Amino acid sequence: MTAPTPLIAGNWKMNGTSASLAEAKAIAQGVGDCPGRVAICPPSILIHRMAEALEGSKVVVGGQDAHWDDAGAFTGDISGEMLADAGARMVILGHSERRAGYRETDEIVAAKVKAALRAGLEPIVCVGETLEERKAGDTLRIVTGQVRGSLPAELAGKPFAVAYEPVWAIGTGLTPTTAEIEEVHRAIRATLVELFGDAGRAVPILYGGSVKPSNAAEILHADEVGGALVGGASLKAQDFLAIVTAL
Ligand code: PEP
Repeated sequence: MTAPTPLIAGNWKMNGTSASLAEAKAIAQGVGDCPGRVAICPPSILIHRMAEALEGSKVVVGGQDAHWDDAGAFTGDISGEMLADAGARMVILGHSERRAGYRETDEIVAAKVKAALRAGLEPIVCVGETLEERKAGDTLRIVTGQVRGSLPAELAGKPFAVAYEPVWAIGTGLTPTTAEIEEVHRAIRATLVELFGDAGRAVPILYGGSVKPSNAAEILHADEVGGALVGGASLKAQDFLAIVTAL
């Protein structure tokens, strides 16, 4: 079984306007021949223009969420098919900001994953514990439970990634120690192998939560870390490129 190809994905969250396309182009120009894959997930309204602007480059464009249904009366929502039609190739699902802010359960995330697959998108499925759960010694149970509950059997044979994002590390400047990251990533790997057999060894497990140029190399070279999901530091080409080149 081949080792996972690393992926560095930038999550722009609700940041960016058409002026930010220049930043995306600068990222595409700067990635060079880095050994992994690189993605930017901008607000959905920018996907079409960004996909056009980055066409022919190494950088692919992704969405930040997609509905569990393919179409219908869901005011304000966006479907996987719409993302794919606009030029997205991937989609982040189950981000903790959606799990917490929009009450997305594992069941909802799994339904969204199935919808993304129907649209031909590669899901990046996020899992992670809160600070209370970590302090209670519950991290591995929570995270592996989310992996089991959020990854439907339909993923077998399809490209996808899992992102381990401790909720308390997102946007806070705090990060777990390398040993803590490795402990969780190894537990996720074991769960992936349990669910998908040997194919589970080829799934990239990204780390996310306050990744920045100064800590990227150590995190990216930790055992079972197959890339990063980067929030704040993906908004500036210089910072994001420093993380990509740390691969
Ligand atoms: C994220 O929200 O996915 C994230 C990792 O954010 P940040 O890098 O800003 O902590």
